[in-house]
Amino acid sequence: MTAYPHMLAPLDLGFTTLKNRVLMGSMHTGLEETKDWNRVAEFYAARARGGVALMVTGGMAPNREGGVFPGAAGLFSDEDIANHKIVTDRVHDADGKIAMQILHAGRYAYSPDCVSASAVKSPISPFPPKELDEDGIEKQIADIVTSAARAQQAGYDGVEVMGSEGYFLNQFLVTHTNKRTDRWGGSYENRMRLPVEVVRRVRDAVGPEFIVIYRLSMIDLIPEGSTWDEVVMLAREIEKAGATIINTGIGWHEARIPTIATSVPRRAFTWVTKKLMGEVSIPVITSNRINMPDVVESVLADGCADMVSMARPFLADPDFVAKAMNGNAAQIAPCIACNQACLDHTFSGKLSSCLVNPRACHETELVVKPATDVKSIAVVGAGPAGLSAALTASERGHKVVLFDKASEIGGQLNMAKQVPGKEEFWGLVDWYRTMLAGSDVDVRLETEATADALAGFDEIIIATGVMPRDAQIPGQDGPNTVSYRELLQGKVVAGDKVAVIGAGGIGFDVAEFLVTEDSPTEDLDEWMEEWGVTDPAARRGGLAEAGPQPETPARQVTLLQRKATKLGKGLGKTTGWIHRASLALRDVQMVGGVNYERIDAEGLHVSDGAARENPRVIKADTIVICAGQVSERNLAEALMTRGKSPHVIGGADVAAELDAKRAIDQGTRLAASL
Ligand code: NAP
Ligand code: SF4
Repeated sequence: MTAYPHMLAPLDLGFTTLKNRVLMGSMHTGLEETKDWNRVAEFYAARARGGVALMVTGGMAPNREGGVFPGAAGLFSDEDIANHKIVTDRVHDADGKIAMQILHAGRYAYSPDCVSASAVKSPISPFPPKELDEDGIEKQIADIVTSAARAQQAGYDGVEVMGSEGYFLNQFLVTHTNKRTDRWGGSYENRMRLPVEVVRRVRDAVGPEFIVIYRLSMIDLIPEGSTWDEVVMLAREIEKAGATIINTGIGWHEARIPTIATSVPRRAFTWVTKKLMGEVSIPVITSNRINMPDVVESVLADGCADMVSMARPFLADPDFVAKAMNGNAAQIAPCIACNQACLDHTFSGKLSSCLVNPRACHETELVVKPATDVKSIAVVGAGPAGLSAALTASERGHKVVLFDKASEIGGQLNMAKQVPGKEEFWGLVDWYRTMLAGSDVDVRLETEATADALAGFDEIIIATGVMPRDAQIPGQDGPNTVSYRELLQGKVVAGDKVAVIGAGGIGFDVAEFLVTEDSPTEDLDEWMEEWGVTDPAARRGGLAEAGPQPETPARQVTLLQRKATKLGKGLGKTTGWIHRASLALRDVQMVGGVNYERIDAEGLHVSDGAARENPRVIKADTIVICAGQVSERNLAEALMTRGKSPHVIGGADVAAELDAKRAIDQGTRLAASL
């Protein structure tokens, strides 16, 4: 008897059957643009072997003007079709199914040639779109239909027509972006003409036995977004037009409400999809912040949808479904929704990967093979770098001993998990614990590894991490000043007024920790109130009339840095704005360009700029120092003076800009090479 009967039940689509209720949602990985089709095929084939029922590719442009950026991949030629056939063949050989997403970006296309319903520029793009005329609209429809027909030729099992997230088809649906007065604008019947026409003509072109998914924006989260009645009307017309399945889209890209970040509660939007159940007779898929089989099971058991879409969880673990089926759900590497190696990479023009699984999108290049020469390997430090090195080396057959002074594994991850909105880190540390327990790694906690004790190992990996940097501020040794470590480890409790020195990732986390009593990530109603989200049946677009209503901050916090630049500039590309907005909602004062003059019983004395002007005191009961890190390399240096050549990784290697992504990647790659 499985623990996931709903998730593992097949779904009969009439002309074909999906083997379970799990869809791998569309992600732009950048793989197609590498033109290494073996690599693309291996990425999808690994997920097909892992048991997912149906996958959707990253968005393929139907034409040049609709590409998300100039040069975006699409099926433009016979050669493109042949290349995509390599992918679909490999997926079918692995008993998988795959649909190609057709993504016309409209005004979100990063190009001066972008087109839309009306010439309304997007706040997240520098390019105003050109308003399409009747012929222009016909051309876009024809190109989308051609793209679907080519996908069929390339061996895909279906297509997903991207109608949500504020892209082209979505832009016709709402008056926010559609100001037209012809038959494509005005009344809702007119505004929905384009998506309905697209689906109808795609169905005509591909025949009845081809999956057509329509991704429908169920809550726009923008002003003048759709009402719930409009969503239902559209869904019914999309069904009539011939769609096989309706998938859920949540929020436009320009919405100022987080929809997939780690601080969004799990399954935060499944209630929206549930409202559509029963309104149409084709299957409905739900999505967003669903990352574990128990969450999938509860969503389906609660009748929120017929199927669940997860995207990033398949970067973290291609074997998600197989592990759940085999009773090994605890071994699923959890997607912590950090965006650090996936979306942040996409938006920086880099290939996607995954913080917890550096092999994602690197399947053909980062290969973990059995070791030919089995070695004894000591790994010192059970933080993310050491854990990934130890597990990978052990997987390859090496004899690994993992040392840590602490009584728990996890290193800095144990601090991150204390931060409200970062609760997913608990699962990541649990996963490492499970994987260690199931491995042959000899784990020695509360054990200080000395240079003498390490002498007999064939290889020594030093992953001793970082120490807080000494900020050297006069008075910092007083009783009112603490380091972020002492605070997050619960060794001290801050007073009512707090000054936080340093506004890097940790300064922001500490500020969040200080102002938040109960994490809204753990309480969906509170989170919706905080960000101003409501039922789209109550208000257009699902934006609450009262706007964001945050909890009263638990403390009065001032966050400071010496640089005169905007605070939080270096935070994640897709998540920095959320951290800044969250602290602004809780009245955290942000001060840049200061000198730290001294600390005394009154608080933190600062002045401005090189001329040390405007001396003043930031009154504070507690001052928390988050001034960055330096490498902990004492052991590495002791070994080197004895003529040893340890491998130094993670923060012990380079402290600046250290994050778990780099640590895990470095640990895995080193161990794969030994
Ligand atoms: P950080 O990002 O390097 O920030 C250090 C902060 O301390 C800066 O604001 C810096 O600003 C200040 N600082 C540097 N030297 C100082 C000195 N001598 N005296 C006073 N202030 C000083 O380091 P972190 O915040 O400790 O974070 C460490 C790493 O963890 C980062 O690389 C970050 O990526 C990662 N992390 C990431 C996240 C995330 O959300 N992705 C969260 C937590 C941590 P000024 O020099 O302008 O004063
Ligand atoms: Fe999930 Fe982070 Fe990996 Fe992206 S990088 S897939 S958000 S764990």
